[in-house]
Amino acid sequence: MADTVAAALKEKLFLGETLFPNSEGYKRSITSWQQSPHRCPAPRPILAVRPRSSRDCALAVKAARDNGLTLTVRCGGHSMEQTFLQDNSLLVDLTLMRGVFVNTDARTASVEGGAMLGDIDAETTLYGLATPLGLARTTGMGLVLHGGFGIASRMYGLSCANILAATLVLADGSVETVSAKKGDQDLFWAVRGAGAALGIVTKLVLQLHDVSDFWGGIVLFKDDEQHDTLRKLLHWQRDHAFPNKQIAMSVYYTCKPGVGRLMMVMMGFFGDKSPEEKARAVQHLRDLEPMQDFLGKMSYLDYQNAHTQFSPTGDDPKPHEFCRSFYGTLTLSQATDEFLKGFIRICDTCPYNKLPATLLMVDACGAAYGQHNGPVGYTADSDFAVLAQPAWTDVHYHEAAAALCEQGQMKGLLRDAGGLGDMYANVAGPDARLVSRVGGEDNLKRLREVKQRVDPHNVFTAHPFKGL
Ligand SMILES: Cc1cc2nc3c(=O)[nH]c(=O)nc-3n(C[C@H](O)[C@H](O)[C@H](O)COP(=O)(O)OP(=O)(O)OC[C@H]3O[C@@H](n4cnc5c(N)ncnc54)[C@H](O)[C@@H]3O)c2cc1C
Repeated sequence: MADTVAAALKEKLFLGETLFPNSEGYKRSITSWQQSPHRCPAPRPILAVRPRSSRDCALAVKAARDNGLTLTVRCGGHSMEQTFLQDNSLLVDLTLMRGVFVNTDARTASVEGGAMLGDIDAETTLYGLATPLGLARTTGMGLVLHGGFGIASRMYGLSCANILAATLVLADGSVETVSAKKGDQDLFWAVRGAGAALGIVTKLVLQLHDVSDFWGGIVLFKDDEQHDTLRKLLHWQRDHAFPNKQIAMSVYYTCKPGVGRLMMVMMGFFGDKSPEEKARAVQHLRDLEPMQDFLGKMSYLDYQNAHTQFSPTGDDPKPHEFCRSFYGTLTLSQATDEFLKGFIRICDTCPYNKLPATLLMVDACGAAYGQHNGPVGYTADSDFAVLAQPAWTDVHYHEAAAALCEQGQMKGLLRDAGGLGDMYANVAGPDARLVSRVGGEDNLKRLREVKQRVDPHNVFTAHPFKGL
């Protein structure tokens, strides 16, 4: 079968690469950033193709259809469930489509569908510009299409809210470009939050913003038995970071045997205030006497590139063992005292001794994330997004992590702290309800109408929108 598909593609002048399971490069195409415990061993496509253009993508869509194969798409390979890996499938790996072209006059970037975050940041910051993106350089367009938050999101919104136009190869092999001024407006709405459910997105035009005055960095604190520092940090985040949209801040809590309880604060300060004014605005934070303080004027690209441990590179990246088994998001309408107490309780009771790399993150999302009116996003009045990520760097911990999550302990802890709210689609696990991944019943209804129109035979079935 693989031979027949490859021959048919060749005959139609497919310009990309076709990779059989024994071809060099195939392993790279099926390697994902993490290994889901739910999909072990992972299924394998019979053939992987690496298109070079929208036309190549259209040929791949038709080849899968003509030969009864499941079609899947892969960009950065960071998704939680790796549904791009299926048996009896044709995998479209967008690795060869990573071009990024900046228009400084319009402050936009044209980005190919296989670009990774590092590609985009590296090119746009040459001009002092950026679009809001996440923190790992090798994460791909899945992040942008299904939400996307990063240090610039509080000021400039979700990544998907910065999509100005999108070009898609649809299930029937046709190519369509949509924008606020052009094409099917429902499709334009839907692609900014649920792109993977609708087609192969081969090009995006993204809005860029001035980041030349970026100020920020990382501060590390040690916690005490009473969580006094953590409490003060969370209150500072609520009382000082929230009222000021220019400040974005996340608090990561972790506890490592032999090291103790640590809080890492990641902060970005946007806008054209002077470095001295910015430093003064965060003096209260520094008064909490951090162990280490790396705050100051820095390049936005250096900030984004600081997280290299999340971004393995090379042609044959090792599957990361720093993988999760539950990755939960809850959004809260307000950072109430009760929530803060609940979060501290989680920090206190999480069985870190079994999972030394577990991270609990409180992200000061605020209303800026909620400006987006597409099928994903945080509610407009949410203050916090919370991620609980049991993670481990050694396979030795795999069992303990799986047990913790299977038994729902982590979810229970989150729920006790204020209720599990909408799930962020990009990190939702297999059991998250579809309606909570797309931000409610109205969005789900509208999305289903679009899906029915552009993909009536459900060719694009990938998580996080499986079941549409
Ligand atoms: C280390 C790490 C750090 C992360 N940090 C952040 C963060 O800071 N902020 C944040 O918001 N999220 C973050 N995430 C979550 C991330 O947004 C999701 O994992 C996202 O789905 C990854 O996209 P990808 O393209 O890398 O993954 P893939 O697995 O390649 O793709 C994810 C989904 O999108 C589809 N897809 C990808 N590209 C296209 C395309 N061009 N056309 C059509 N469908 C496509 C795929 O078919 C798949 O269904 C992080 C994840 C990891 C593992």
